[in-house]
Amino acid sequence: NSKSRNDTAVRGTNDNSIVSKCSMCMLGYFQDDFLGHFVAKPARRAPLINRGYYIRAKAVDYVLKSFLSAHEGTKTQLVSLGAGFDSAYFRLKSEGLLVTTVFYEVDFPEVTQRKSDMIRGDELLLKLVGEDSRVVENGIVSPSYKLIGADLRKVNILQCLLEHHGIHPDCPTLLLSECVITYMGVKSSNAVIRWAAETFSNAVFVTYEQVYPTDGFGAVMQNHFKKLGTPLMNIQRYRTLDAQRQRYLDLGWTCVSATDMNHFHNTLIPREEKLRVDSIEVFDEFEEWHLKCSHYAVVCAFKGSTVSPLSETVF
Ligand code: SAM
Repeated sequence: NSKSRNDTAVRGTNDNSIVSKCSMCMLGYFQDDFLGHFVAKPARRAPLINRGYYIRAKAVDYVLKSFLSAHEGTKTQLVSLGAGFDSAYFRLKSEGLLVTTVFYEVDFPEVTQRKSDMIRGDELLLKLVGEDSRVVENGIVSPSYKLIGADLRKVNILQCLLEHHGIHPDCPTLLLSECVITYMGVKSSNAVIRWAAETFSNAVFVTYEQVYPTDGFGAVMQNHFKKLGTPLMNIQRYRTLDAQRQRYLDLGWTCVSATDMNHFHNTLIPREEKLRVDSIEVFDEFEEWHLKCSHYAVVCAFKGSTVSPLSETVF
């Protein structure tokens, strides 16, 4: 039926995303030694795509690291919702940044089963998960890493599974949705955002997604996703950064900060880094690049004792 066809297409967005992430890492835009472990057939993407994935990687890395450094030495939880084959756990673990952090990854069981199989077949990944890891239904868990299969549209089941794997409601927690809840429909994604606000007392909800769907580049992207069978379902309603902010406030979060990728690029990427990136491959589509950056945003909603990982940035 059409619902399961749509779910298959949504799961397929992970395959596309991981190949693109891998492309820009292989070229040296962003350093991640682990993405390649999850890609069977690497492919080189066009420069504009590489730059898009580069700025996304930088923005997400920036908020994760800000959160971890703000809570250095204390117990924290990271929950990647719709984690796909993302390798953030392995990268941060290998950098020694997850000493006091438990990292949860949730995705459809079909996706987590594949990821779990890859981890189990890879000595280096398995070592980073930890020697005391064990296989669970559709996943793998260890004291520091929990890969769990669940449909995010069923928050009750999600909650039970996370509890079963030791999640703590009062521990400072960062929940990440990197290009995920936008595929879920307004009602289901609002339910996740509200569930997170009600469940965790000290938390940050970080969302990376598209905004301004009807202007120029945004309209082109909307069409592109529609053709792939994975329309971005939320952005018609939460088009602007202000609408995004209001959304989280309405759903139980206390404060929200957000930035589009132009602002992030202009204010938080140092000059030397910009020059380094310019020297990676021939690139002359600067207009398209800035247009694209204006259509992607990172939104951080927070509550309790947690501070925004984007504290220097405002709307
Ligand atoms: N966050 C990862 C990243 O940025 O590399 C993957 C992004 S991919 C575009 C979207 C992911 O969200 C897919 O892995 C998909 O299976 C997952 N996803 C979407 N809807 C979901 C749902 N209802 N339940 C669980 N996972 C979901």
